[in-house]
Amino acid sequence: MPVPLLDLKIQYRALKPEIDAALIRVAESQACILGPEVDALERELESYLGVKHAIGVSSGTDALLMALMALGVGPGDEVIVPTFSFFATAGCVARLNATPVFVDVDNVTFNLDPELTRKAITPRTKAIIPVHLFGQAANMDTFMDISRELNIPIIEDAAQAIGTQTSDGRRVGSIGHIGCFSFYPTKNLGAFGDGGLVTTNDDELAVRLKQIRNHGMEPRYYHRIMGGNFRLDAMQGAVLRVKLPHLPSWHEGRRRNAELYTKLFIEAGLSSAPGVTSFGPGNAILLPKAVSAGTSTDNHIFNQFTIRTAHRNALRSYLAERGIGSEIYYPVPFHRQECFASLNCDDNAFPISNCLAATVLSLPIYPELEEHHIREVVAAITDFEREHEHGESECPDCAECGTNA
Ligand SMILES: *Cc1c(COP(=O)(O)O)cnc(C)c1O
Repeated sequence: MPVPLLDLKIQYRALKPEIDAALIRVAESQACILGPEVDALERELESYLGVKHAIGVSSGTDALLMALMALGVGPGDEVIVPTFSFFATAGCVARLNATPVFVDVDNVTFNLDPELTRKAITPRTKAIIPVHLFGQAANMDTFMDISRELNIPIIEDAAQAIGTQTSDGRRVGSIGHIGCFSFYPTKNLGAFGDGGLVTTNDDELAVRLKQIRNHGMEPRYYHRIMGGNFRLDAMQGAVLRVKLPHLPSWHEGRRRNAELYTKLFIEAGLSSAPGVTSFGPGNAILLPKAVSAGTSTDNHIFNQFTIRTAHRNALRSYLAERGIGSEIYYPVPFHRQECFASLNCDDNAFPISNCLAATVLSLPIYPELEEHHIREVVAAITDFEREHEHGESECPDCAECGTNA
């Protein structure tokens, strides 16, 4: 039986009466942009996220761009970003003619490494963007210490992590100076098109961000600062308001699926435990580990369930032949992207990201997956790994994952 990477139709079918009613409500009101739906969504998200200001915007990418604009980032400035993330994290910096400074990530969480970040700071560092990749919180305590010590603002890229909690129970995006979220349909809270959110606890930044969202205009047709059209549609606001109350149960479903995958991979003898970082006997597959626990329940919201294997491309084709969806997030780190060639990055400075790019594979994890789907995925991977046990590694001679052992 096929197992798609994601099936958004199941979620729509479950909520169809409510969502259809919300869409018709907007159609009849003809209040199409911002307006009462977006206002209400913003108040509901402020309460859910535990943050003073939530501002609905046109996409997660625009949220990042606006955050950098609000902090005045421009030519001559440097912004530190992980080299292993979705393109927008670095692209927004370069679009403002500032320089993205790439830093390697942690081997277990795949998130920006705080100590390497410290070493990359210069007098020109204008901001740091930790990404909560795949739904796992970056090490915010350390980043906030660095921020206070050196007076550098933190922009959280929480596009994949709406609702993720740190060990003390705070939700990501409420901790740094500005938080950025995406409502792209594949995110845990997805709209019916593009959408995003910026958050802040700073009243002055909130005023600025709201002005930037609408061409920097205040009052009407007077522009003291530069802005753009970064507004959120009312249709998206209305859909998101229907979905938001279901988010905790969807997180729960993803976490349950992650636990089942973990149990089955260990039972199959493919992994000894989550969070192992090198391949070896009994660890043909490396499993993701949710690290922050403490008082939080949403310590990892599993926007992706990302395993690692030394035969990644071969496994992906094998799964595809069996109708099982998977995806490579991400095959090329920023320091290897053609559009950043002029930065002349030293490829050897990013061993972990290079290894991840060669070994990661994300499996179906959406909340409506059934147990037999997950069993089928694990059975297929078990068959594959038995056949390829002694095959050549796609991450050759790597000191990070042990394929040079
Ligand atoms: C999805 C995503 C974005 C961009 O969000 P869009 O809404 O697609 O523009 C930015 N950063 C990360 C880490 C993402 O996953």
